[in-house]
Amino acid sequence: MKIIRPDYILTPTSMLKGQAIAYDEDIIAIGPFEEFSKQYPQADIETLPKHSLIMPGLINPHVHLEFSGNKTTLEYGQFMPWLNSVIEHRETLINDCDKGCMQKAVQMMLETGTTTFGAISSHGMDLEVAEQAPQNVIFFNEVIGSQPAMADALYGDFLQRLDASASVTRKGFTPAIAIHSPYSVHPVLIKRALKLAKERGMLTSAHFMESPEERAWLDENAGEFKGFFETFLKQSTAVTTAEEFLKLFDGYPTLMTHVVQANRDELSTLAKGGHTVIHCPISNRLLGNGAIDLDALGSEEVKWVCGTDGLSSNYRLDLFEELKIALFMHSQTPLLPLAKRLLNSVTIEAAKAMQLNTGAIEPTKAADMLVLQLEDEPGEQFTLHLLLHGYPITAIYINGTKVK
Ligand SMILES: [Zn+2]
Repeated sequence: MKIIRPDYILTPTSMLKGQAIAYDEDIIAIGPFEEFSKQYPQADIETLPKHSLIMPGLINPHVHLEFSGNKTTLEYGQFMPWLNSVIEHRETLINDCDKGCMQKAVQMMLETGTTTFGAISSHGMDLEVAEQAPQNVIFFNEVIGSQPAMADALYGDFLQRLDASASVTRKGFTPAIAIHSPYSVHPVLIKRALKLAKERGMLTSAHFMESPEERAWLDENAGEFKGFFETFLKQSTAVTTAEEFLKLFDGYPTLMTHVVQANRDELSTLAKGGHTVIHCPISNRLLGNGAIDLDALGSEEVKWVCGTDGLSSNYRLDLFEELKIALFMHSQTPLLPLAKRLLNSVTIEAAKAMQLNTGAIEPTKAADMLVLQLEDEPGEQFTLHLLLHGYPITAIYINGTKVK
């Protein structure tokens, strides 16, 4: 049992002052230090400096560690030139990103306050790094393949990776399943993967409606994807429509990444299905996919959280940076409510969507905590300043263990 005494606690939905936290792997109680010291006389006590704040560790639901090698290789600005640059440099990007490269990405996330991340794994090359990461990890094994003739082989490869990740036994590591996208995965494969997810009680994730090109291809078998699919896959029509794709996920509440180009009907389907959108603002901007309509998500009552995506479409894996960019991207949305909503999106809302017992400083939650050093007493607009000022993170606890 340990007791930590900050000046302030951001839960994150309320601000507490002058309270201590009793914790082991989980948070046990929050209350006056004087009471705790009588109640738990054997506890280790840590008193933090003046103007210190404890808040929940952040949750990044969507990152691609295997693509951490990119810095200036890929072409930004529009989706298709970016995708072509990925295809062109795929081998070197993947091969040049060794264990050290992926560990650097994990470390960048840790230092910027991410205590839980969802890794989308295309090849399983990131398994060892994810297994050894200090963070809680949801390891999404990705299934991809639009050609029926390849379905069995690709599914077999996916199963092998899934089983390898399922053999990891460390606390805080959870295997899961990712469906790449409606345009790149044949419905037969999607059905098999989802059935398996249900049997094994695994979380699911998918990319959905990221680019205008995806919209045109799924709706009309047209646009810039047409040439791409004809050239690389000898395919002249999409394997599914958006509607058919979403129907496959009935009964499988899923993390749907991007969703920038979705229409109102699709948003309504996402809400009814209990799905959660992962908004990746920096990635969407860099790949020319536009800004998601948060008001439309709000009026359709679609749940949403924020993620970074991988370094193949980002310059940082830093959720504070991501939230700050989102704050400026959605420039018509009232400022302080948006700041609060964004912070919730990487704490309590992300924990709900990923079925994790973390994301808040409250009893029974995992003791995943950040210590920040503020300059003065937090005021009414603190959440906004939290996103703007980049306060130093002086300590990080994951499942009650100090990792920084
Ligand atoms: Zn992604």
